[in-house]
Amino acid sequence: MDILANYLTYICGAENVKRDEPLARWTTFRVGGPARFLVLVESKAVLQKLISALEYLAYPYFVLGLGANVLASDQGYDGVVIKLNCQKIEHNDVFVYADAGAKLGAVVNYARDHGLTGLEWATGIPATIGGGVYMNCGAFDHSLSDVIVMVDVLQKGQVKTLTANQLDFGYRHSLFMEEPAVILGAYFRLAKDEPAKIATQMQEILTKRRRHPHEPSAGSVFKRPQPNFYVGQVIENLGLGGYMVGGAQVSPQHCNFIVNQGGATCRDILQVLYHVQDTVEKATGVLLETEIIFLGKMD
Ligand SMILES: Cc1cc2nc3c(=O)[nH]c(=O)nc-3n(C[C@H](O)[C@H](O)[C@H](O)COP(=O)(O)OP(=O)(O)OC[C@H]3O[C@@H](n4cnc5c(N)ncnc54)[C@H](O)[C@@H]3O)c2cc1C
Repeated sequence: MDILANYLTYICGAENVKRDEPLARWTTFRVGGPARFLVLVESKAVLQKLISALEYLAYPYFVLGLGANVLASDQGYDGVVIKLNCQKIEHNDVFVYADAGAKLGAVVNYARDHGLTGLEWATGIPATIGGGVYMNCGAFDHSLSDVIVMVDVLQKGQVKTLTANQLDFGYRHSLFMEEPAVILGAYFRLAKDEPAKIATQMQEILTKRRRHPHEPSAGSVFKRPQPNFYVGQVIENLGLGGYMVGGAQVSPQHCNFIVNQGGATCRDILQVLYHVQDTVEKATGVLLETEIIFLGKMD
C-alpha cells in the first residue's frame, strides 16, 4: 500500500493525493465514506501513467466527475478515485473541444460567449464533460449526443478518438457503460447565432430548472422506462412524495429526486430507493432502472 501511496505522490504531486478522503465531500448527495486514495490529475500524460500502473497492479480505480450522479457507499471505496483537473475549452469555427475535466456549465457559457448555439438546454446541469458524455446527460428532449462529433479516450493503454456513431449513445446511455474507458475530451458541432439570443434561451432554461429541489441530491434517481412514463408523476400519484428514511427523502417537489435533508447515509438513500422501486413495480408492473451510479459496496 505504501508503495502505491509513494507512486501516486511521485506522479501526481503530494498536494494532489488525499488518503482516506470522505467521498461525501466530492458527491452532490453529500454522502459516502472514505476513498482509500483520491487523486487530482493535472495532465493527460500523468493520467496515462497512472492508469497503466493501476491496471498493471490490478488495483481498482474510479473516475469521478462532479459526483452529480453518484451514490457512494457509507463504507467508502477501497481503491483510487481519480479526478481530472484538465479543463481546456477551445473552438474553431463551429467546432468546440473541451477536456473531460471541464465543467459542462463552462462549455455552455463559452459557446454563448462565442455566438455558438446548440447547448443552451444544458444550462444548469451539474456535470463535467467526462461525466456528461458517460451518462449522455440531457434535458428538455435534448442530450449531449445531439451535438457530439468525437470523443478522445484512453482505453486499454491507448489514446484513441472515437466518432459519435461508435459510441452507442441512447437515452442516458453510452458505450462506456459496457466498454470502460477514460474519457479525455469531447468535440461538439454547434451552429452560429447571436450571443444575446443564446443568453435569453439559457435564462429561460434556468428559470425552469429553479423549480427543481435545492437540497443535496443526484438529480433523477430512475430512468424513464418508456417515453410516456413520467417517473416523478407516477411516484407522486402513489403518495410517496415526502417518504423518508433517516435523512433521505423522496422530494415532494420532484418525486424522482431523493434528497438529503441533512445527515442522510447511503443506507438511508438505498432504503428509500428500494421502497419506491417496489411500490412502483407492485402498482404498475414496471421495474424502474436506476440512473444513478453506485460507488463502493452497497448493502
Ligand atoms: C441537481 C441535479 C440536477 C440534475 N439534472 C440533470 C438533468 O437535467 N439531466 C441529466 O441528464 N442529468 C442530471 N443530473 C445528473 C448529473 O448532472 C448527470 O448525470 C451528469 O452527467 C453527471 O456528471 P458528473 O461529471 O457529475 O459525473 P459523475 O456523477 O461524477 O460520474 C457519472 C459517471 O460518469 C463516469 N465518468 C465521469 N467522468 C469520466 C471520465 N472522464 N471518463 C470515464 N468515465 C467518467 C463516472 O465514473 C460515473 O460512472 C442532475 C444532478 C443533480 C445533482
